[in-house]
Amino acid sequence: MRALTVVPQRKDSLAVTDVPDPEPGKNDLLVDALAVGVCGTDKEIAAGDYGWAPPGRDRLVIGHESLGRVRQAPDGSGFSPGDLVVGVVRRPDPVPCGACAHGQFDMCRNGRYTERGIKELDGYASQSWRVEADYAVRIDPALVKVGMLMEPTSVVAKAWEQVGKVGARTWFQPRTALVTGAGPIGLLAALLGMQHGLDIHVLDRVTDGPKPRLVTDLGATYHYGGIADAVAATKPDIVIEATGVGQLVFDAITSTAAYGIVCLTGVSPAGRRLTIDAGSLNREIVLENDVVVGSVNANLSHYSAAADALARADPDWLGRLISRRIPLERYTEAFTTQPDDVKVAITFG
Ligand SMILES: [Zn+2]
Repeated sequence: MRALTVVPQRKDSLAVTDVPDPEPGKNDLLVDALAVGVCGTDKEIAAGDYGWAPPGRDRLVIGHESLGRVRQAPDGSGFSPGDLVVGVVRRPDPVPCGACAHGQFDMCRNGRYTERGIKELDGYASQSWRVEADYAVRIDPALVKVGMLMEPTSVVAKAWEQVGKVGARTWFQPRTALVTGAGPIGLLAALLGMQHGLDIHVLDRVTDGPKPRLVTDLGATYHYGGIADAVAATKPDIVIEATGVGQLVFDAITSTAAYGIVCLTGVSPAGRRLTIDAGSLNREIVLENDVVVGSVNANLSHYSAAADALARADPDWLGRLISRRIPLERYTEAFTTQPDDVKVAITFG
């Protein structure tokens, strides 16, 4: 069968290649691929900057934002042929560390976890794939065109959970949240924030393209330009930072209301230096009891929360997040699109 593969950490090695058909084990589902979403991590892997092949192999099948339809399911697995499913990305480390031993592999302490399509396990960008029934998540049939948004939604479901857990350390009744960045993560964070009943504001740089309408159609408020103006207008209790832009990260930290929580979800490139007033930053955090929390990846509970959130969302709105659907053979187009395109998916079959 055909798969999108790469020699990790080698430039220009991304290609559609022939790989052996999947051989499902006795607790595995056999799944026909419908689509994979392409994100920044995939672009880093394609550029040769990231990723690890399975032990003893040169090439890795990429793709971690999966969507497929079950072809075969073992008896008693809870899945049936025809079900729409998404495969979980991370697997616990083999030791396992305490977090992984408790099913919290998203919080792995020793870094020896593996990840489908990223770290030592083949991903989901192949015509069919196998997945352990325990690491498959069924999604609503209405999400057949947009289910590849599940993985990024699981990441924001975790971010909101972290905000809630941090907030619960004392009285907490947030009203307003600011999301910085209206890419897929930011827009999905805004969706879940609206579902939580918050007054949601989204800040981005663009004044045209799909982003402003996507925000306002959600019932949230779109801001462009500087964060200072957006903060003055909104006084957020919570900031979800989804750009990884260094200056914006520091501005977000200093911009919350008292008892503010900033959840950082964007990964910045290392080596870019900023001049910051460390004293003011310290005063702001201490004197307002602020918290800055980083959040990445997701465990099974977050996938489950994401499935619920997507089932409650408007499928048409979700569909507008995916600006382009590109057949596997034309995969190169999926890696050269602009960030303002929101989300690109590669389709199969
Ligand atoms: Zn671990």
